[in-house]
Amino acid sequence: MLDMVWIRENEELVRQTAKWKKVDFPLDELLEWDDRRRGLRQETEELRARRNALTKEVETLLRQGNRAECETVKEQVRELGGRLTDVEARLAESETKCRELMLRAPNPVSQDTPIGESDKDNVEVRRCGEPPAFGFTLRDHVELGELHDIIDIPRGVKAGGPRSYTLKGTGLYLHLAVQRLALDVLAARGFTVMDVPTIVRPETLVRTGFFPGGEDQTYELSGENRWLAGTSEVPLVSLYSDEIIDLAAPMRLAGMSACFRREVGSAGRDVRGLYRVHQFSKIEQVVLCENDPEVSESMLQEILANAEHILQLLELPYRVVAVCTGDMSLKTHKQYDIETWMPGRNAYGETHSASNLLDFQARRSNIRYRGADGKLRYCHTLNNTAAATPRILIPLLENHQREDGSIYIPQALRKYMDGREVIPAPQ
Ligand code: AMP
Repeated sequence: MLDMVWIRENEELVRQTAKWKKVDFPLDELLEWDDRRRGLRQETEELRARRNALTKEVETLLRQGNRAECETVKEQVRELGGRLTDVEARLAESETKCRELMLRAPNPVSQDTPIGESDKDNVEVRRCGEPPAFGFTLRDHVELGELHDIIDIPRGVKAGGPRSYTLKGTGLYLHLAVQRLALDVLAARGFTVMDVPTIVRPETLVRTGFFPGGEDQTYELSGENRWLAGTSEVPLVSLYSDEIIDLAAPMRLAGMSACFRREVGSAGRDVRGLYRVHQFSKIEQVVLCENDPEVSESMLQEILANAEHILQLLELPYRVVAVCTGDMSLKTHKQYDIETWMPGRNAYGETHSASNLLDFQARRSNIRYRGADGKLRYCHTLNNTAAATPRILIPLLENHQREDGSIYIPQALRKYMDGREVIPAPQ
């Protein structure tokens, strides 16, 4: 959410941002409701002040024994009370309407964000590692999974419906190993690792900026008024809602959770294998830091570097792209995606997404800290994937396959895989 005073001072930028992000934001309607709200606030205050003055007058007249005059003034107090009730109701309605509309206001983008329509306009920032040249006919992760009997898509679909999967044996251990590696890297870098709720209250989704707008992408638990979070960013940020936190140093959090996505609108896209599924696991980085664009920019670079480090440990080629306006969500101020080379797709595929949200979430979630000057401020929040699996198993299996069907296990994963160096070729 943005500050209303800021919105008024930056009307053109707000309109432009809505166009860039392709969000339907009725700024004029908000400005009208805000005008009405201001008028009603003033009217309420004046009426309250008059009522208080008249109530005092009644007391004075009573003390003086002036009963006739006292009754006249009492009648005025009653009449004022009636008007006040009406104005207060209209004020409450305008407050509600302003909040509803403000929840739909897009966060402005950073000056270095590329302007563009879709992910095709994202700008490559750097590449790391070379896609391997295979001197043999490569198998994609589905074929490798079947060959080694470690991924069973058909039976997953039989149990869970479309976009489901099953990981078996070494497939499951790889899935766990990647998550354990990510947690250990983050813990060593000062992150507090946490297992957080996946079932969340609807207000957490509003206050972290997923609702309104993301309802059709989120699973609702029937009869519960609770939802399944698509990312642990939601519970992680919400743990601190309505708190005044200590930000002597940035708060670095790593959440482990199952993630649930309805993937509405992606019918027919990425239907093969593990790329786009309804349920997956993710280790997510979340940072809460001072309300200082320089500090949060440096934290964005830090959480991006953490993800890159994990990919380097997995010995995978990737590229970093600066995400353009048309590919950004309402809440994002600046975003990088990391795309990892997926030989089976003969393309880079998104595996990580790093965002700086400035104080957008903290305002909605009411998370504040006391600055050096003693004043309370909303903090900045950021997030990035550390490892999302099973998607990351796609590049892991595909890039590390060998001609005989065996699959190389990167050094950094071996301690979580009983020291194994390779998934041997099936006999
Ligand atoms: P997001 O929270 O949407 O930025 O996604 C973060 C990461 O989660 C992506 O980069 C993917 O690695 C993974 N991810 C997102 N959606 C899916 C999905 N439907 N299936 C599998 N992995 C996903």
